[in-house]
Amino acid sequence: MSDNNRHTACIIGGGMSGLFTGALLARNGYKVTVLEKNHIIGGGLQSFRRGDAVFNTGMQSFAGYMPNMISLQFCKYCRVDDLLDVMPTDENQQEIVWVDNQTNYRLPKGREAYQSYLIKMFPQEEKGIGDLMDAVFYIGHTYDYLFLNPIRRHEENIPYAYMNAYDFILQYVHNEQLISVFEYVSWTTGPSLKAMPALEFCMMLTLYIIGSHRFVGGTKQMVDAFCHVIEKTGGKVYNETEVCKINVENGRVVELIDTNGKKWGSDVYVWACTPKILLDACNAPVFRLAMTQRVREFVNPFTMYIVFCKLKPKRFPFINSAVYMPRPSDKSYLPQSIVLVTSPHRNQNQWAQTAEIYIPACYEELGKWENTKVQDRGRFYEEHKNQVARKALDMVSNFYPDITDAVMDINVASALTIRDYYGNPHGATYGQQGLYLPIKTKVANLFMTGQAVQNQGIAGIATAATLTAETILGKSIIDEIAKA
Ligand SMILES: Cc1cc2nc3c(=O)[nH]c(=O)nc-3n(C[C@H](O)[C@H](O)[C@H](O)COP(=O)(O)OP(=O)(O)OC[C@H]3O[C@@H](n4cnc5c(N)ncnc54)[C@H](O)[C@@H]3O)c2cc1C
Repeated sequence: MSDNNRHTACIIGGGMSGLFTGALLARNGYKVTVLEKNHIIGGGLQSFRRGDAVFNTGMQSFAGYMPNMISLQFCKYCRVDDLLDVMPTDENQQEIVWVDNQTNYRLPKGREAYQSYLIKMFPQEEKGIGDLMDAVFYIGHTYDYLFLNPIRRHEENIPYAYMNAYDFILQYVHNEQLISVFEYVSWTTGPSLKAMPALEFCMMLTLYIIGSHRFVGGTKQMVDAFCHVIEKTGGKVYNETEVCKINVENGRVVELIDTNGKKWGSDVYVWACTPKILLDACNAPVFRLAMTQRVREFVNPFTMYIVFCKLKPKRFPFINSAVYMPRPSDKSYLPQSIVLVTSPHRNQNQWAQTAEIYIPACYEELGKWENTKVQDRGRFYEEHKNQVARKALDMVSNFYPDITDAVMDINVASALTIRDYYGNPHGATYGQQGLYLPIKTKVANLFMTGQAVQNQGIAGIATAATLTAETILGKSIIDEIAKA
């Protein structure tokens, strides 16, 4: 088809959701333009360097990169699987969960191993653990597109969307220590099992048990791979292009305008960033009134500090697992644990080069700097971040005493970093996740994708991208993805 006859798509936001949706449309004949406001493409997929050390800004765990699951098949369909350097997490201790200073659980990968391990630790709950795992896997497998199931089972899942995960687990087991082990699953949606819908719990736990992968040498490789797919079919990914105006006439977008005054046009438009920004940019209603109000008011309260530590050589072991450690907080809306990861590097050996510590936080702590720009925050802000780093190292050293002496250099990202880089209200870690917005808007050629449509994380974003692409293409592609 000549370039003039090709459909065109303009995607606003060059994070994972923009790149994934762009790649699917490119694979289906569209000429795709991606507009990203930041200098560096990738949103939460960016990685950055300090000397020879590479740090990931977000993504650590690459879930669903297994046969018959969305992430692997999605990458195969987009033909990027050969371009990615990934490694599986530790078979025997994919997650290390400390429930107190003395006790940890090293949760292995795979349904049988995971179940046997829990039964070994809590033999009195043997029957309940078996029944719980049956239920989790059954419900987890019905989750939209996660296992490439072409049939969406919303109705079947509705009861589990309204029940909380704690009550769900209590139907099967009663040992409080065992239940507290499962708290790690609620970390991404926060703050606890009591606040997490059972449906999400089953989906997340299924993903965790099946096993995840990690990027070797940083997540930027994924950005490069998806940009390549878009650009090799004639599309283009532009950085430093912030869309600030969307002009709608007669129910259709006619042009986008960026902050430099440049106009952009195409057949269809996909909004792949925080929906709240869309409402301010568009000159016509995008959603129904009630939904508009929800988008305006909705703030996911979960934000975090990330402490990026460069480590001295041969001082701290490489741990090929995520480590959850308790940090009781009086803020009931925050997860009650912190997370430590040591990212794999090229030629990874037994020693870690970097460590990242994730600490749930509330935005209000940063109130006095809320209206400042990054270069004007001054020495008190730096001192505040230093204090956070010191506290983080103290907390981790309760479990891994060698960490403090092993650190050579530290950088700290705060909620303001997340707010400014991604545009997420109040620096919410996962943006406006939890809105479950429709893909079609009131504007005929404007579509939504990303974590406000489905779930955060690679599997949720791949699912949202597939649903958005299917809506635009007017056909199902999930079977093709499954067979790729
Ligand atoms: C600290 C952290 C840890 C995480 N860990 C994991 C993990 O281990 N595993 C996992 O699967 N997921 C993880 N996630 C979640 C995952 O990173 C996100 O779900 C995902 O990156 C979201 O992608 P997105 O494209 O929807 O949003 P974003 O990554 O936020 O991308 C949106 C993009 O739009 C751009 N933008 C905003 N406004 C405009 C505008 N007006 N014009 C043009 N561009 C604009 C932004 O600059 C940004 O690049 C983590 C997230 C965080 C923050």
